[in-house]
Amino acid sequence: MGSWHPECPERLAAIQDRLIITGLAPHLDYIEAPLAPLAALARAHDPAYVEMLQRNTPSSGYHVLDPDTLLCPSSWQAALRAAGAVIEATDRVLAGTLENAFCAVRPPGHHARPGTAMGFCLFNNIAVGVHHALEVHGLERVAVIDFDVHHGNGTEEILAAVEYGDRRVLMTSFFQHPFYPYSGTDNPQENMVNVPLPAGSDGARVRAVVDEVWLPRLEAFRPQLIFISAGFDAHREDDIGQMSLVESDYIYMTQRLMQVARRHCHGRIVSSLEGGYNLSALGRSVECHVRALAQL
Ligand SMILES: [Zn+2]
Repeated sequence: MGSWHPECPERLAAIQDRLIITGLAPHLDYIEAPLAPLAALARAHDPAYVEMLQRNTPSSGYHVLDPDTLLCPSSWQAALRAAGAVIEATDRVLAGTLENAFCAVRPPGHHARPGTAMGFCLFNNIAVGVHHALEVHGLERVAVIDFDVHHGNGTEEILAAVEYGDRRVLMTSFFQHPFYPYSGTDNPQENMVNVPLPAGSDGARVRAVVDEVWLPRLEAFRPQLIFISAGFDAHREDDIGQMSLVESDYIYMTQRLMQVARRHCHGRIVSSLEGGYNLSALGRSVECHVRALAQL
């Protein structure tokens, strides 16, 4: 998105470097993300929006969608692969060939709205995955957990429009508030459980939200599959937000969600990278998240 931009290719390199240097990489299965089919994107997005992104992807230089969100010549392919990763992970987890999966993708997705790019996001990768799970695999109850420092406004908007969404989709999150994108305080449905937290909130506060809000709702909902919008910009070293999580908090959240997944859906979790812009903290946090998922 430009050399000045925090949503940079070095993010994925930082993650991969960390997985290598800690010895985790050889114990993981690496799967190349396929390109998402246009029909899968159209379940979550307006087809005209999908077509607009393709048409405006430049052959050189940049196309500015909004002050934060740009297209470069590789953006279209990258965005298709980011959404395709979540679809592929969903297929494999539901087939039982993987218990869980982490999608190391960019661009991120949770701000992408049905017909609008927003906040570094082009396609809402998690929402595309949720629609795929509901409509292709016929699941009846899918949960989305979002622990990015920003509210997942795009995911909320897309999922609130799902037919029978109150029965089929549960979304829980915390996010810094008041803060970009200045939404999330009026949950549009009974099954949208988004918890605003003040700047400076630390792991103890977040763990209380997990235990007292997320887990009771998840237990009652009995998800058949859990998606995680895994943003790591609530880390205390990440200057894009002002929260104070550390690596052990990401382990805690991951393990608690895995316990729910084991009780209700054979451990099925599909996690996908959202934010996280301090490269060192991002690498360490993802390592902890993946290590917990892999039980290593
Ligand atoms: Zn974020």
